[in-house]
Amino acid sequence: MKVIRKIGEMMDISEIYRREGRTIGFVPTMGYLHQGHTSLFKIARKKSHILVVSIFVNPLQFGPNEDYKEYPRDLQRDLEICKNENVDIVFAPSESEMYLKDFSTFVEVKNLDEELCGKYRPGHFIGVATVVLKLFNIVKPHIAVFGLKDAQQYFIIRRMVRDLNLDIEIIPGPTIRESDGLAMSSRNVYLNSEERKQATVLYKSLMLAKDIIEKGERSASRIIYEMEKFIKENAPLSKIQYIQIVDTNNLKPIEELKSEFLIALAVFFGKTRLIDNIIISLDGTTNII
Ligand code: AMP
Repeated sequence: MKVIRKIGEMMDISEIYRREGRTIGFVPTMGYLHQGHTSLFKIARKKSHILVVSIFVNPLQFGPNEDYKEYPRDLQRDLEICKNENVDIVFAPSESEMYLKDFSTFVEVKNLDEELCGKYRPGHFIGVATVVLKLFNIVKPHIAVFGLKDAQQYFIIRRMVRDLNLDIEIIPGPTIRESDGLAMSSRNVYLNSEERKQATVLYKSLMLAKDIIEKGERSASRIIYEMEKFIKENAPLSKIQYIQIVDTNNLKPIEELKSEFLIALAVFFGKTRLIDNIIISLDGTTNII
């Protein structure tokens, strides 16, 4: 396994692989790897000759009062995990390598960033889209895999690729969970033991919503009300930021449930912000392609 820190070196190697006719699969990450990440490596591995993983905590996607400084980092441990997963190249640039002092170009995917996390993290998805486009230009992948844990991110990247005619196939990977349903996340390490216990309410409230929908409920506001009630009753340490039900075509809120929609929520435990979601299709059609 090769560890590359320089943009120029990464671009040169990718160019050689491309000329040799080898398919490059890519998984961008912010490190502190867990099975959610490695599940994406496995998907990319199957579809490509060369697997590239990037590890870069992207300052551009953190707000001024967010956890950029505290975000967990452990490159040595991450490299061990990558080796065990048969990653061919880890691209781990420094901040100054990625962003020159007078960096001034940003990518904005409009409309899709107006609800859900985008509403509460202004500029976040500009940071995400900008770094992902840069990484795509550097790594030059044929395919890239993104987790549905961050569903809004997946939809935004897919729209960017379509709108800017990037010749890259974007593949979604399912959310990987702990045995009690909590979605795996690098941020779970912030939780103390009581918060960790209560954090299962995110997934449980999504399962409650699914259950109510299966029984015939079609009103988004009634489902959101039931989820909120469940979380407040079962997790006194929680503070709900949002619970939303949106159409997967445009990520806009809907009231009457139909075709395919995303139920997503963000909940704070102390300073730790957790997100989760499920996608439900009532008529068998799906936008998850
Ligand atoms: P991050 O390191 O948090 O930026 O995540 C890198 C990639 O891993 C993104 O595509 C995430 O959606 C994905 N990811 C993070 N957690 C999970 C999970 N629990 N299951 C599946 N994918 C995940």
